[in-house]
Amino acid sequence: MSFAYDPSGLTLPAAHFIGGAYIAGPASIRVLSPSTGATIGAIPCADADVVDHAVSTARRALATSNWGGMEPRDRTRALCAWADLMEAEAETLAAFEAVCSSRPFAQAVTGDIVVTAEQIRFFAEFADKDGGALAPVSDGHFGYIADEPYGVIGAITPWNFPISMAGWKLGPALAAGNAVVLKPSEMTPYSTLFMAELAVRAGIPAGIVNVVLGDGPTTGAAITGHPGIDKVSFTGSTRAGGAIMENIARTGIKPMTLELGGKSPMVVFADADLDLAAECLDRGIMSNAGQACVSGSRMIVAHEVADELASRLTERFARYRPANTFASEPGFSPIISQTQLGRIDSIVQASAGQGADVLCGGARFDHEGSYYQPTLITGVDAANAAVREEIFGPVATFQTFHSEGEAMALASHETYGLCAGLFTRDLSRAMRLTRRLAAGTVWVNRYGRSRNHILPTTGWKSSGLGHDLGREAYHANRRKKSVLIDL
Ligand code: NAD
Repeated sequence: MSFAYDPSGLTLPAAHFIGGAYIAGPASIRVLSPSTGATIGAIPCADADVVDHAVSTARRALATSNWGGMEPRDRTRALCAWADLMEAEAETLAAFEAVCSSRPFAQAVTGDIVVTAEQIRFFAEFADKDGGALAPVSDGHFGYIADEPYGVIGAITPWNFPISMAGWKLGPALAAGNAVVLKPSEMTPYSTLFMAELAVRAGIPAGIVNVVLGDGPTTGAAITGHPGIDKVSFTGSTRAGGAIMENIARTGIKPMTLELGGKSPMVVFADADLDLAAECLDRGIMSNAGQACVSGSRMIVAHEVADELASRLTERFARYRPANTFASEPGFSPIISQTQLGRIDSIVQASAGQGADVLCGGARFDHEGSYYQPTLITGVDAANAAVREEIFGPVATFQTFHSEGEAMALASHETYGLCAGLFTRDLSRAMRLTRRLAAGTVWVNRYGRSRNHILPTTGWKSSGLGHDLGREAYHANRRKKSVLIDL
């Protein structure tokens, strides 16, 4: 296998990034390469004191730099310079991403980084264009609704798309005039640290972007419970989202945005373009080896085309080959950890134990690192483990329907409502069913995010609270103040 980049020259910091400087701590958490299983570094775990230092540094930086109150255009300029620098340093940034995550280096360079830079520019442009409103109040008064930054946002991100997730949090929060204390996943810390370093190099004042490293129960909880954090913005599992809500309820109510898990259906009608559907269903679940919140993990297919589609999918799934994240030709992504690999397999085996048929896959790849075979499971109902649980791996269930009503009943999930896909050539049906699907995002005759950054992402049910992306994400990083003046 040929490699696109040799990561052996990378220096992997064992340090937080606070106030524009790396601050080392005892390296207590090992960081592994999922491509090889090797330990590649270790990072410190920020305790309450380190988090407190990061929060007070952020507050001081807001006061001294006037980041939230400066000419908005100056914020726009600094954020655009940061986006440009990320693109200029794409190779190094991608290497920090690929060294410990499931993201292929080559895809990070041409995809994740380019899209993240675009999103940062998108949010930067809101800084001097959006906010506030005059209020139509009675004679003798002057009323308006002001729009102000929160102050310090506490952001926590998952491991599955580290650069993109950091961009989703930092772009709108910074454009809206806030400082941020961000904790990336302890499994994938390096690209976020480098993004913060680039922010300072691009002219964003030191202390406005701070990265603290550590696990959820120690560092994450210290962030969400800190009284100097004005708002929490979290992306991760529904389980951790619940723990964060509890901690916030216990330590002092504060606003929060939660982007959580999914178990999204992709519904294919008999009149669909089957070539398109096969390609979208395949990519909808196998992209990043199913480790995406939007993964289309439940395929729901009209009985007339079910056999044909199942056979096309098993054929396509058989072509995937595991590949190191630094391979010149991006291949099938590794599973982030052995723990997660074991969890995927245990759900597949539990599903089979409950009577499901495993049409293909159903086992690990015999390969170094942690890779799981693309898996398609049929003969399942709503009670089956593979239908109920967010597996977060390359595993999809395949169910068939005989009527539109049955399709919608199967598509509904008792817990999750993140995304849904519909495949049909019938526009009336598409419009009708789009309204019936209980999901924050619906894709018709496509599956997956686009570069239309104006579209927010919103979890319905236990998939979340609030928004990332879109103008909604900018607004989610500012708070309202009603002002009434007696004249
Ligand atoms: P996770 O919930 O285990 O961890 C996410 C982050 O939260 C990590 O940084 C972790 O250290 C931290 N954390 C864990 N427990 C915490 C606690 N009690 N308090 C504070 N922080 C805590 O999730 P993961 O395994 O890293 O990521 C996969 C999950 O993320 C999946 O459920 C996926 O659907 C979800 N996700 C959702 C979206 C979305 O937009 N809805 C996007 C990406 C990933």
